[in-house]
Amino acid sequence: MISMIEFPRNRIIGALRKEFSMSPISKYAMELAVSEMTGERGGKRYRCVDCGLGNFVRKEVQLDHRDPVVPLGTSAEEMSWDEIIDRMFKCPVDNLQCLCKECHTKKTNEERKDRNMAKKVKEVMKNLPSFITADQAEDLVKMIPEDLKISGENLGILVKTAIRWYISLEKK
Ligand SMILES: [Zn+2]
Repeated sequence: MISMIEFPRNRIIGALRKEFSMSPISKYAMELAVSEMTGERGGKRYRCVDCGLGNFVRKEVQLDHRDPVVPLGTSAEEMSWDEIIDRMFKCPVDNLQCLCKECHTKKTNEERKDRNMAKKVKEVMKNLPSFITADQAEDLVKMIPEDLKISGENLGILVKTAIRWYISLEKK
């Protein structure tokens, strides 16, 4: 029996995404993005909600979860399969948007940057001064607004703010 297998997590998520793209809710959301029924090149045309261009053929656009399947403050490794599947398949249709490949890649890269930064913030939080316990550090991480775009320059400010906030709580 093979006991140690490198678990192809990302490939399984990729397969789930493929399955999702064939689901009724996906097809419905794509219908909402149709800009015209017959274009110069024949067939349906789709509008990208980001760049606003409306002459894409089906293979040039992708369906995107506005609020991403993997939340910005976490990573797929930290999520259970149930969570991943629920966030992917059981999302309201208005959380789905049609993006051209270029805009989708841009959004995905920005999200990846935010996730990496959130990971760094968590590591920093783990190394907070010794008077802050692991549980308290965890609470600090939860204080970070979800919509906060964490960039490299903001990381130091964020940690300082979190510590200051924590000290102010201690004084109360
Ligand atoms: Zn676009």
